[in-house]
Amino acid sequence: MAALKTRSTMPGGVTPHCNDCGVALYWDVDDEEYIHAKQFWDDWTCKECNGGISLSLTEWKLQQLPLPVQKLNESLQQACERIGAGFYFEEGGCYGMALALQDQITKEGLKADLAVIENKGHAVVLLENQSFDYTGFSPLTGTETKLSTEDFLQYARNHGHTEEALFSAKEWALQAISSALEEAHAHS
Ligand SMILES: [Zn+2]
Repeated sequence: MAALKTRSTMPGGVTPHCNDCGVALYWDVDDEEYIHAKQFWDDWTCKECNGGISLSLTEWKLQQLPLPVQKLNESLQQACERIGAGFYFEEGGCYGMALALQDQITKEGLKADLAVIENKGHAVVLLENQSFDYTGFSPLTGTETKLSTEDFLQYARNHGHTEEALFSAKEWALQAISSALEEAHAHS
């Protein structure tokens, strides 16, 4: 059945239909979102046909990511605990973590943007329309401000982080990242 344009589909959108029973999804998906996740919507099955479980687009998107990024999402926080970082990457160390995550994620061929959440003074990276920090993915709250690397570094300096502090935070973050990836490797 897949995703169709029917008489009742809103302009600029498609109406996904269950692959098993053919029932239409209750809402339309706009064209841009559809193209972004075409396979998900083309293969979509309704909750009833899927054994009572609604398919999650967020989960599907996560499964499309390179394995190391999925592993970081699952195990970076534990790796931070393992290396004794405690809340370091929640507060002062978040800038270094964002820089390290950007490096790692770029290595996987994805685009990750640096951003700050001004009201929390917290740095994150943005990818796949979600925010990512040492705890893994979180939905966007709309308070994230995307910054160029230059502006990000300036922002960190304005908030009292010397280049030296940033550099050592990033080094520690890279340790946590490789620990998370090694741990994941050991379990796979
Ligand atoms: Zn169905």
